[in-house]
Amino acid sequence: MYQVTSLKAEEFISHEEIQETLAYADANKDNEALLDEILAKARLGKGLNHREASVLLACEIPEKVEELYQLAERIKKDYYGNRIVLFAPLYLSNYCVNGCVYCPYHLKNKHIARKKLTQEEIRKEVTALQDMGHKRLAIEAGEDPVNNPIEYILECIQTIYSIKHKNGSIRRVNVNIAATTVENYRKLKEAGIGTYILFQETYHKESYETLHPTGPKHDYAYHTEAMDRAMEGGIDDVGLGVLFGLDKYRYEFAGLLMHAEHLEAVHGVGPHTISVPRVKRADGIDPGAFDNSIDDETFAKICALIRVSVPYTGMIISTRESQEVREKVLPLGVSQISGASKTSVGGYADPEIKEEITSEQFDVSDQRTLDEVVNWLMKLGYIPSFCTACYREGRTGDRFMELCKNMQILNCCHPNALMTLKEYLEDYASDETREIGMALIDRELETIPNPKVKKKAYEYIHDIGEGKRDFRF
Ligand code: SAM
Repeated sequence: MYQVTSLKAEEFISHEEIQETLAYADANKDNEALLDEILAKARLGKGLNHREASVLLACEIPEKVEELYQLAERIKKDYYGNRIVLFAPLYLSNYCVNGCVYCPYHLKNKHIARKKLTQEEIRKEVTALQDMGHKRLAIEAGEDPVNNPIEYILECIQTIYSIKHKNGSIRRVNVNIAATTVENYRKLKEAGIGTYILFQETYHKESYETLHPTGPKHDYAYHTEAMDRAMEGGIDDVGLGVLFGLDKYRYEFAGLLMHAEHLEAVHGVGPHTISVPRVKRADGIDPGAFDNSIDDETFAKICALIRVSVPYTGMIISTRESQEVREKVLPLGVSQISGASKTSVGGYADPEIKEEITSEQFDVSDQRTLDEVVNWLMKLGYIPSFCTACYREGRTGDRFMELCKNMQILNCCHPNALMTLKEYLEDYASDETREIGMALIDRELETIPNPKVKKKAYEYIHDIGEGKRDFRF
């Protein structure tokens, strides 16, 4: 039976409730009165529940879909302004004991190069990432209690935070590792992580079990209940995600929103981020083998609907997506993107040659340098941001949500974004990027509403030009 506050996976992600939701959506996808009612509710900017959002997802009436897109753009502007936060993944180890059929790290893959970074190699990777200008990382690892125990992950986090190279530093480490125990989540929290990210892959239990035939990840309930354990362990910023292509997208979308509703109902705080990866080609993996792949139009509609359904939740698009697709979905509500990513273990300091045996997780579509990505974002009218202030000021979980709900982003996140951009321009940018960026900062400083904050922001930006670093509101 469906129960949003239950701590049992099969009750808060109830299969029956999803099926009823999909039937309700099918029955109402042309019901204009109801669609208008749902759009009117969405316009209030307080979100939609999984049933309402599923009706909009099923709807194919062009004017209604257009209205949805416009609304997503408006909500994105109201809540996030024109900032886009940048990060990079850092692959620590691809040893893995699981059997995930879509992932080349699965145990039976004998021709992938298995690698695990030593602390010295991590220093080289992080130095290379700092030299590009990155300040935020998402660390990634396969699941292997012998090769990648929690102690290894904790040691890596400590090493990453300790490296100060020229003006570089990693100020926020997000973690994407397999579901684990409350005790281990507590250790990750103590190590100072930002968001704990875990993709559900699919909310459909039967498919989940088939797609994860062996290894600890086979346990659907343990995986689905991981975020509750993370929150019990004190981590209040968690990141959800579905790997689109594995099962039917409408099922996944309803499950994803039900998961968000569950976290809000039980812990008083919804997910900090939602990621929307799609299955990519990888060693021994043909995305065509998964017959639920979604086209770019559907992908954009899902992004827009996530934006209007959970306005306070950030949305992440990785380099799995091409420049073209990223350009299409950025205005619809994306708040974070990765840049210049390598999905191989050790790939930043020591890029792998494609024709050789690689340690890569999947093919990257957007292969531009970070400078090219920063430059491109600014030309599209966005402010590339390397900000990590909220988490370092203790504004996580519900305190971060308060900031969003009180619309204080323009007085806080906006100047923080400009200051971190200024650091980037001073330390890492090409001449052209610097020129575009300096003009952008001048224009954007003027838009800060609070006069005191504005005056301070001018002073800080000036001081960064004089060589000082790491200011924040
Ligand atoms: N091992 C951890 C776990 O089990 O959750 C997470 C780390 S894994 C490196 C990060 C994510 O990559 C997975 O959760 C999965 O969604 C995604 N992934 C795996 N294979 C992929 C593929 N072929 N294309 C796109 N994404 C993939």
